[in-house]
Amino acid sequence: MRILDHAVVRLLPLVPRAVVQRLSAPYIAGPELADARSTVGALNAAGQMATIDVLGEEVTRVEEAETIAAAYVDVLDAIGADGLDANVSVKLTGLGLKVDVDHCHHLLERVVGEAARRSTFVRIDMEDSTCTDDTLALYRRLREAGNDNVGIVLQAALRRSLADLAAVRDLRPSVRLCKGIYVEPPSIAFQEPDEIRRAFVALLDALLDAGCYPAVATHDEWLLAESLARLAALPADGYELQMLLGVREARAAELVAAGHRLRVYVPFGRRWYEYSLRRLQENPQMASMVARATLARLVGRG
Ligand SMILES: Cc1cc2nc3c(=O)[nH]c(=O)nc-3n(C[C@H](O)[C@H](O)[C@H](O)COP(=O)(O)OP(=O)(O)OC[C@H]3O[C@@H](n4cnc5c(N)ncnc54)[C@H](O)[C@@H]3O)c2cc1C
Repeated sequence: MRILDHAVVRLLPLVPRAVVQRLSAPYIAGPELADARSTVGALNAAGQMATIDVLGEEVTRVEEAETIAAAYVDVLDAIGADGLDANVSVKLTGLGLKVDVDHCHHLLERVVGEAARRSTFVRIDMEDSTCTDDTLALYRRLREAGNDNVGIVLQAALRRSLADLAAVRDLRPSVRLCKGIYVEPPSIAFQEPDEIRRAFVALLDALLDAGCYPAVATHDEWLLAESLARLAALPADGYELQMLLGVREARAAELVAAGHRLRVYVPFGRRWYEYSLRRLQENPQMASMVARATLARLVGRG
């Protein structure tokens, strides 16, 4: 990321919410479940799978966590009713991880159970490093209780991820591999883009060595090439590629046309702000977009 972008990332929280909402619209299906349904229907028609995320994280009350869990059951009903080729992605802080770990486990178990009844799958997103231990522990608890339709995420940026993989290797986990979006200190996380890329490739090698199902989540062309070279030995249904809604859509279509299975992450809901900030951080055009939007506002056109 260039120096100018770093400066804008720090300023992003100061950007008016209406501007953030407008700039981040391509990354979010919309406020309602109906928006996610139609987005996923269109993706499926284009040969792409989806994972649906109910926006909402860092809840502070058990009631909010219950509401998000109930929204996931509605999503699972919609997947079944529409016959969508989709699963769900959940953020444990949205299910109350920071409020009450046992209650979070209970809600996650409910969502995973409802998904199993509809023969679908739950991916537990990985959040910042304060959540890593609890997330992996809850994953193990679910797997040891016999739930196989659940998977995790490993972040290449975290120095601990190879060790985390070794610790769950006995479960042959389904793992989404990504760079990691959360800002973490150098003591626990690689900072340089090339270090993160090297760690990503090392993790993919370790996943393949462990016989895990890999879901390679990146839009980085260099990493895609390195990953595809390694995945070539697997059958077409032995792995998947993943991308975010609104990012590199033309490249996603090319990969599908080339015969790869590709899943798009489709967030929807009214709690769009935190997710939107993270996506804008990663948009290479963000600095000029934010500058233009702010300028337009200053001259009264915003
Ligand atoms: C399906 C999926 C699920 C994810 N789940 C998690 C998770 O659970 N936990 C977590 O920490 N992180 C998650 N991430 C985010 C991930 O960690 C990275 O932060 C993100 O994917 C950007 O890294 P990249 O590998 O795409 O490379 P980058 O170098 O960031 O991007 C490569 C190129 O993609 C394009 N691009 C990337 N982002 C944008 C954008 N927002 N707008 C426009 N263009 C863009 C640009 O052309 C850029 O040069 C997920 C990512 C994906 C794809």
